[in-house]
Amino acid sequence: MIQNPIPWPNGAKCACAITFDIDADSLIHVARPGDSHNRLYPISMGKYGPDIAVPRILETYKRLGIKQSFFVPAWCIDQYAPVMEKILEGGHEIGHHGLIHEDPIVTMGDRQRAAFEEALSIYKRVCGGKPRGYRAPVYNITPQVVDLLIEHGFDYDSSLMGDDIPYLLEKGGNNIAEVPVHWGCDDWPPFAHYEEIGYVNHVQPPSVGYQGFFEEFDAQYEAGGFFMMIVHPFLTGRLARWRVIEKWLENTMATKDVWFARLDEIVDHMRSLEQSGEYTPRKDILPYYPEQVIRAEAAE
Ligand SMILES: [Zn+2]
Repeated sequence: MIQNPIPWPNGAKCACAITFDIDADSLIHVARPGDSHNRLYPISMGKYGPDIAVPRILETYKRLGIKQSFFVPAWCIDQYAPVMEKILEGGHEIGHHGLIHEDPIVTMGDRQRAAFEEALSIYKRVCGGKPRGYRAPVYNITPQVVDLLIEHGFDYDSSLMGDDIPYLLEKGGNNIAEVPVHWGCDDWPPFAHYEEIGYVNHVQPPSVGYQGFFEEFDAQYEAGGFFMMIVHPFLTGRLARWRVIEKWLENTMATKDVWFARLDEIVDHMRSLEQSGEYTPRKDILPYYPEQVIRAEAAE
């Protein structure tokens, strides 16, 4: 059971989102900056996302009449601008996902602010306006990034794992919504094989690799919760894998009472219930720890 379930619109039993992180070939450039331009195989594996998979995914969404959320590093937004236009034309949302998929833990301080704000200006130039949501590359959001999100008026983050359903992050008297992720619904563990960036996984057949996701959905549906996939076009948008997800989508929409929505819509719904006093979201106060938990000398 879920202690504090959110009442979903029209009495739906579960809110659902399939969120895609379009990292494209940014990953190899960050991992191997010295010679990534010569590494054609990983570039092509990443480019498959925006070039081949995203049009396929958008076609399915259009046919099924659903709008979803995409998170894209600003370098990829610029590099694949026509694809971003297609995503926005379909009524989908694009969120902030770093400048070029830099790990926020590695770029703390001035570098982090500069990268975060440069990403915002690229977003504005290509997509217009500003993103409402953020997902940290490799989920590695830091207290500094939370401050940047609040400073720049973001409505939500989607990088943390502190609950089953959306909740709030409070820092310095302000708060933003958190739409929680989890490795159990991320396609990286079952499907990524990418030795250049340190992932050597045993790739699962599509029919096996998503089984865990669907069990997560069943539990959330039974509890009246929230189910989100965190997937990547270059992994989940491959022909055989997307066929599995597409069939699951068709079947779920035909047989279950679910609300497929963009993350900004889910956050707006939670906030409107909060404002009307119908619902009080749970809140995590940040930072969890103000300083190092174990001092270096004590750890020795
Ligand atoms: Zn990513």
